[in-house]
Amino acid sequence: MKQKTTSDEIKAPSTFPTQGQPASSVLKMIERELAGDGRTNYDLGSYTTIDMKPEANQLIRNSLGKNLINKNEYQSTTKIHDKLVIELGNYLKAPNVANIIGSSTVGSSEAIFLSLVAAKHLWRKKKLEGSPNIVITSNAHLSWHKFALYLDIEIRQVRLACVNQYPINEVIELVNKNTITVVGVLGCTYVGNCDPIEDLNNQLESLNSKKGWDIGIHVDAAIGGFILPFLDTVKHQWDFNLPLVRSINLSGHKYGLVYPGLGWIIFRDQRYFPRELSRTSQYLSGSFTSLTLNFSKPSSFVIAQYFNFLHFGKSGYKMIIRRCLNMAKHLACKLSESSFFEIIKTPEIPVVSFSIKENASFSAQLFTETLRFLGWMLPSYPLPDKSNKVVMRIVIRNDMTPLLLQTLIDDLIQTYKTLAQP
Ligand SMILES: *Cc1c(COP(=O)(O)O)cnc(C)c1O
Repeated sequence: MKQKTTSDEIKAPSTFPTQGQPASSVLKMIERELAGDGRTNYDLGSYTTIDMKPEANQLIRNSLGKNLINKNEYQSTTKIHDKLVIELGNYLKAPNVANIIGSSTVGSSEAIFLSLVAAKHLWRKKKLEGSPNIVITSNAHLSWHKFALYLDIEIRQVRLACVNQYPINEVIELVNKNTITVVGVLGCTYVGNCDPIEDLNNQLESLNSKKGWDIGIHVDAAIGGFILPFLDTVKHQWDFNLPLVRSINLSGHKYGLVYPGLGWIIFRDQRYFPRELSRTSQYLSGSFTSLTLNFSKPSSFVIAQYFNFLHFGKSGYKMIIRRCLNMAKHLACKLSESSFFEIIKTPEIPVVSFSIKENASFSAQLFTETLRFLGWMLPSYPLPDKSNKVVMRIVIRNDMTPLLLQTLIDDLIQTYKTLAQP
């Protein structure tokens, strides 16, 4: 016989019930459920924007129903999109802006995917023997590995001996005639360091001329693309000024200061994104050409990027980036002074990566779990180099304030002291 429970059983409500409920009560219910999320401004590891101006929010709301792919229906949106692509071509110093091709994407990942598709297509046309490869270092983002796998491209990777040293000779040694692109990272996700793209360009140029090859570079500027142009300290070139840089991706939703859902891909010349790869569609009104992976896509964030460019201007971006970098340097300085932490790299961009001093009696994992009780979400992971040292990173975004930064510093130091007690 089935045993009876003393209390009535409580069942979780269905997420797709037979009968609906009034919108206002569903709103309250979901809001309550979402309260379990962490606070976005306590999300220390994330690079993506959490806040925009009310006017940007208004524009975003007004565009929510407009599908970016319906180019003839929303011609003004399309014009804005295309103006932004041209502007980014200028910004990245394309030698002939009339010849560039580019697009907004969902993020840098989609942009990276498109660059690989194009590079592989160009390689196929060469009809070489063997299979295509890309040359990367262990600094590169996971998405390179993911898409190389999807597209059946071999990965030739140099595992860094130390994150702070770019192994240029080893990178060049891995290049062969089947290399479809060499990847340079501008603002490594793990530590924030920037590959010396100018050196890479020069070394690759001499290799190309020695071997009679034509191998180019893709710059993954997901993070650094909206940072480096605003810093006077950056002496090295990395953009289309360098002849071998053929495509660049940027994340509009990182330091482009737009909410998650926007990236950009720009090719220096249409030659590097063959015409046959962009599809012309005719089933909506009129015909149009699209080069992206996704068909339907929100247009709101493209408009939001436009708002930011017009509202902040280059001087506004400069001010924001410098303010973030100053706060990052201040944080690095305070952590280093405390003598509890080791700074992996003096911040070049507004990212502080650090580890707990080796003689500590507790792990980085316990440290981050303890901080979580105070609301801070701090990622920890092994460095992408041979040291395998476990580090943590704090990204200083536009939403950081001096007051919150001080609270963070106090909490980091206090947590260390509490855990270090015998
Ligand atoms: C964030 C990041 C990516 C992935 O970009 P999404 O915009 O998140 O799709 C790729 N490369 C680097 C270096 C990144 O930091």
